[in-house]
Amino acid sequence: MILVFIGPPGAGKGTQAKLLSQRMGFLHLSTGDILREAVKKQTPLGINAKEYMDRGELVPDSLIIALIEEHLPEEGGVILDGFPRTLAQAEALDNMLNAKGKKLSKVLVFEIPDEVLIDRLSGRRVCSNCGAVYHIKYNPPRRDGICDLCGGTLVQREDDKESVVRNRLEVYRRQTQPLIDFYKKKGIIYNLDATKGVEELFSEIEGIIKDGG
Ligand code: ADP
Ligand code: AMP
Repeated sequence: MILVFIGPPGAGKGTQAKLLSQRMGFLHLSTGDILREAVKKQTPLGINAKEYMDRGELVPDSLIIALIEEHLPEEGGVILDGFPRTLAQAEALDNMLNAKGKKLSKVLVFEIPDEVLIDRLSGRRVCSNCGAVYHIKYNPPRRDGICDLCGGTLVQREDDKESVVRNRLEVYRRQTQPLIDFYKKKGIIYNLDATKGVEELFSEIEGIIKDGG
């Protein structure tokens, strides 16, 4: 089963994808996580991607498509989190899957107002060591600034600073939202009220996944 999570930054895609991975065995494929790892290691991809990420712009399609080609597994359940983000990426994904005789199962759209996103992104903290995600109000660590899982230091993502957040929301509206129509035509779209709490939203997603339709 191949699922796509679409939604603006801060909607809770990564949080739900990580839970699905832990509880149901899905592979969580996040282009944002892969890129951040590449930036940290200063690989050629990371060095190239950093300037776009720091500005809240999208990294060029050719780099992202190559990255997915490299990471998409042959078998098993996969959640694509943060990919595709442009029509060119969506078409490339269709071609990649067609070539393997597969197709997308479902596309879940996380719907959420901007005020809630700003609140979520300004309070988001990530572990600089293992990448675990927290929120200072909604999902705080047991000890301030310290990761529960590995003891690493929690930091704010550079692109979660307010000036960059505004641009990321604009980029989402301009470049990614049109994908919703693209997938609507294929009849595989499911809309979620992403303002719900983590567990309530998880149950809803679980219901959608288990529903054969
Ligand atoms: P995305 O992957 O869509 O950018 P995240 O999963 O990183 O979003 O979530 C953004 C922030 O909001 C994080 O700090 C996370 O802990 C918090 N969060 C995620 N889901 C919820 C929720 N349902 N209710 C409240 N806060 C949430
Ligand atoms: P995310 O972690 O999904 O919020 O992504 C962080 C940043 O990585 C984005 O603002 C983009 O700069 C880049 N990025 C992640 N996924 C993609 C993608 N599919 N296409 C282009 N850029 C991406």
